[in-house]
Amino acid sequence: MNTLDLDGLNNRIDAKRDELIALTQDLIRIPTLNPPGEFYDDCAHFLGERLAARQFEVEYIRAQGAPGDSDRYPRMNVVARRESSPGPCVHFNSHIDVVAVGQGWQQDPFAAALVGDRIYGRGACDMKGGLAASIIAVEAYLEMHPDHPGAIEISGTADEESGGYGGVAYLAERGIMAKPRLDHVIIPEPLNKDRVCLGHRGVWWAEIETKGHIAHGSMPFDGDCAVRHMAAVLDRFERELFPHLASKHTNMPVVPDGAKQSTLNINSIHGGVGEDFEGLPAPLVPDSCRMIIDRRFLIEEDLSVVKREVIDLLDGIKGEREKFDYAIRDLFEVIPTMTDEGAPVVNAVSHAIQAVLNKPATMVVSPGTYDQKHIDRIGKLSDCIAYGPGILTLAHQPDEYVEVQDMIDSAKVMAIALHNLLHGNAA
Ligand SMILES: [Zn+2]
Repeated sequence: MNTLDLDGLNNRIDAKRDELIALTQDLIRIPTLNPPGEFYDDCAHFLGERLAARQFEVEYIRAQGAPGDSDRYPRMNVVARRESSPGPCVHFNSHIDVVAVGQGWQQDPFAAALVGDRIYGRGACDMKGGLAASIIAVEAYLEMHPDHPGAIEISGTADEESGGYGGVAYLAERGIMAKPRLDHVIIPEPLNKDRVCLGHRGVWWAEIETKGHIAHGSMPFDGDCAVRHMAAVLDRFERELFPHLASKHTNMPVVPDGAKQSTLNINSIHGGVGEDFEGLPAPLVPDSCRMIIDRRFLIEEDLSVVKREVIDLLDGIKGEREKFDYAIRDLFEVIPTMTDEGAPVVNAVSHAIQAVLNKPATMVVSPGTYDQKHIDRIGKLSDCIAYGPGILTLAHQPDEYVEVQDMIDSAKVMAIALHNLLHGNAA
């Protein structure tokens, strides 16, 4: 039946509150830390068994040979599909991995304590809360519409936090998370329940090495200090590059506001030989200094120009500074991606946000990257967004949490959007 009993659906999701809490807690209690990629197999099977019991066909796909894949740490993915008749395929994709715990927690990161309306834990917000909400949304919908048209898929994928090569990229390359198998994709990343995330900025990671000449530390005039050369690079960054990047603004609706411009982070600098076993420094002039940079760029920028800015600056120093020599090495790059605001999945989720929250959806773009890039570039499917519960800035923080009411509300949004996409009502 094409019509949706909105109140019936909302009531059904409200009635699943305790089940949603329990599911979120169960997921957080599987400590799927990445690195190294712990318990992926357990988490994939936990999801697969739940969905198999609800008439999903379940496939477990190990990304053999992907970075980090081993028998000890298999890059395990699960894809569950429920197809009743010809029609569009709506796919909910969540990554199952979580980042390292880090310092500063008051809560136990894997106990998944419910305190008031909040569930605490590593991955609560990014993104086991979103995964649980999407499952409850689909299950509630199926109870009311067992004869829905088309296909519904739910996946739990590996390694998003380390680039997605053992997860969505691997599945997209094999046509599993790609056109024509999929038509519409929602990734329940924590972008806040009233926002539709259209895509993300681009990334360029690179290593810059300045070169020197080793000599005795008591006679530095006989050597050439690579760290001082790097200081010259930093000086130019401060005086020229950072102001230049701050002057570049995007029309992408990036949040937060600070990310509406080009940015560059200096991730690390290492120069010289480390201390010996007694903690005393090596009496040497450093002959190498390495800096890792993390440049985030805008859809209006071309990656070749982004790289050229840094290379021109380094070449400029070479022309002015005696004995300055450098090497630069690309480490990682991602092209920006942004779904059209008129795309069916954007319409469906926006209308559902209006229906549930009684306010218009806000269109946003993420400052950092996520798996949408692989669905877009490799899977050739642009009808993809991120939409899910949780506050973006809590991701990767100590005492990360997700609010139960946010999960309930976003589950309602996902269920309504699912209905409209399956029935082609969203175009
Ligand atoms: Zn995430």
